[in-house]
Amino acid sequence: MSTRTAVITGASSGIGAATARQLAAAGYRVVLTARRADRIQALADELTAAGHQAVPHALDVTDRAAVDAFAATQDRVDVLVNNAGGALGTDPVATADPADWRAMYEVNVLGVLNLTQALLPRLTEAEGTVVVLSSTAALATYEGGGGYVAAKHAAHVIAETLRLELCGRPVRVIEIAPGMVKTDEFALTRFRGDQDKAAAVYAGVAEPLTADDIADTVTWAVTRPPHVNVDLLVVRPRAQASNYKVHREA
Ligand code: NAP
Repeated sequence: MSTRTAVITGASSGIGAATARQLAAAGYRVVLTARRADRIQALADELTAAGHQAVPHALDVTDRAAVDAFAATQDRVDVLVNNAGGALGTDPVATADPADWRAMYEVNVLGVLNLTQALLPRLTEAEGTVVVLSSTAALATYEGGGGYVAAKHAAHVIAETLRLELCGRPVRVIEIAPGMVKTDEFALTRFRGDQDKAAAVYAGVAEPLTADDIADTVTWAVTRPPHVNVDLLVVRPRAQASNYKVHREA
């Protein structure tokens, strides 16, 4: 028998890298995918040196032909963590750039669709698990969130619909919806490299969630017995009661 294998998208930073580390520690062979080949190679080297099995594979989740070619190289997939994604801008609907909306839809929605479709045969053979990293933005909106919120709502709909469609087949569909997670790149990407605006997102919040906190919930959810499907897990820091209500210390 080959080793239980987890494919993680967006494993080059933040939640994806932390999830790869924790799933490797839980005994999974991890397949690390992201566009930045140097980052996933370094993580694979780190995990291999620690005695784990880790394989990097550079991949843009929006490139369907590349995703299909990648899937054809995978003999066994027990877990797919659809983590690649992110936000671009905080412009209101009235003035947002449609190109930003399109880019967010491509990665957060079609990226999930591409990987899930391509790996579903392997996941079914393995009685596996699809994880969708959505967001609390998948469940409620906020001003300036429009394009990201729309995309994450669509990711939520993929998880909900897929779970209905796969009922009776041996595949679980788990959605993890994090609130505020302080990662190195998420806010920086959203604000196009503006460090001050990125830092303001977390200003005064004593303990935002960390990438490890979310990796922990992903690992917990996928390591439940196979008949237990954690449909949707909303995880926020204690200081955040809704997308709007965040306690900030002066
Ligand atoms: P992050 O550090 O910016 O990570 C995003 C990851 O996605 C990177 O590894 C990036 O790798 C990858 N990625 C982006 N576009 C890609 C593409 N076209 N193809 C393949 N990989 C791509 O952000 P994070 O905070 O860890 O967020 C991870 C996920 O959690 C995202 O889906 C995000 O929307 C969601 N989330 C984050 C928060 C938060 O507050 N941080 C809250 C809720 C949900 P490359 O650039 O190397 O491709």
